[in-house]
Amino acid sequence: MAKVFVIAEHRDGRLKKATFELLGASAAAGNETHAILLGEGVAGLATELGHNGAQTVHVVENAALKFYTSEAYSKVIVEILKKHTPDVVLASHTPTGRDLMPCVAARMNVGLASDCTQLAFEGAKIKVRRPVYSGKATAEVEFLASGPQMATVRPNALGVPKADSARIASVVAETGNFAGLLTQVTDVVKGSSARPDVTEASIVVSGGRSMKSAENFKILEELADILGAAVGASRAAVDSGYRPHRDQVGQTGKVVSPLLYIACGISGAIQHLAGMRTSKTIVAINQDPDAPIFQVADYGVVADLFAVVPALKDEFKKLKDH
Ligand SMILES: Cc1cc2nc3c(=O)[nH]c(=O)nc-3n(C[C@H](O)[C@H](O)[C@H](O)COP(=O)(O)OP(=O)(O)OC[C@H]3O[C@@H](n4cnc5c(N)ncnc54)[C@H](O)[C@@H]3O)c2cc1C
Repeated sequence: MAKVFVIAEHRDGRLKKATFELLGASAAAGNETHAILLGEGVAGLATELGHNGAQTVHVVENAALKFYTSEAYSKVIVEILKKHTPDVVLASHTPTGRDLMPCVAARMNVGLASDCTQLAFEGAKIKVRRPVYSGKATAEVEFLASGPQMATVRPNALGVPKADSARIASVVAETGNFAGLLTQVTDVVKGSSARPDVTEASIVVSGGRSMKSAENFKILEELADILGAAVGASRAAVDSGYRPHRDQVGQTGKVVSPLLYIACGISGAIQHLAGMRTSKTIVAINQDPDAPIFQVADYGVVADLFAVVPALKDEFKKLKDH
């Protein structure tokens, strides 16, 4: 059994599903499972962390933690880790986790396995698997040095456990030392999109160069809105100015692992596959039957996307309406 600390992530008063995946995996393996919850006015979220597998929630509330900064968050987390000496520290491989965990690992002077897609507990040790060479191979990583074993895990890689409202976590109010911080975020200006970010969505509908214009992405947005999906894009679409870079999926964009990835008019270049090949189910719509995307697709439609996407939208709408 390992003593596992999970860094809880939340935004706008809601915990991220990816945090529940980590708690669930640890709890299911019979570990002593803790969560670290930082922010301002967030203590109420401890209940939900308990329902999802945390036995103990370590809470630090402070105005300096209202908005995420790697400096303040890593400083407080390291204080908690040094005090409680866990065997394992896990965070989600979200934009925040990617920024935070290297700082935490460096401050702890230990290694970090990032962007893991598999996680196994063996006593107090973990073994993780992470894609390398743009997803062409997978490396199995074990930790040899002493000190907490740290990993970030790709969202949707482990699956969300069933919450149990009978599970109640004990809450420990921790204190942090905020003296001498050099950075402070005073405000966050949000983008206008109401759609989820590609890294967090369960479904991603992506378009490529073949969309031909930014306006044509409207058909993908309509399909995405019916499915509650995010809209992604290939680099060719982003370079052509059809979508902002934040939507780019791939080696030089974001890595996604949704339950369903619908690639519309995307050829399937290796750099694009590096960002989406671990998706649970891949649907490809492409006119070219020899397009490489079909080699990774679970379902393929050889057809004109401008005919297929609106038809799909209509069918999903009918299903939803009934
Ligand atoms: C260092 C480096 C990093 C890179 N990083 C990334 C990255 O992060 N993400 C990324 O995506 N790419 C990346 N690329 C670029 C990558 O190599 C490809 O050029 C790019 O992915 C191609 O985008 P695409 O599939 O949209 O366009 P194309 O390769 O032009 O493919 C368009 C596809 O649409 C199909 N098509 C055309 N019209 C229709 C239609 N009406 N209906 C259905 N299908 C149609 C065609 O058959 C074709 O397969 C990178 C390249 C390099 C060198």
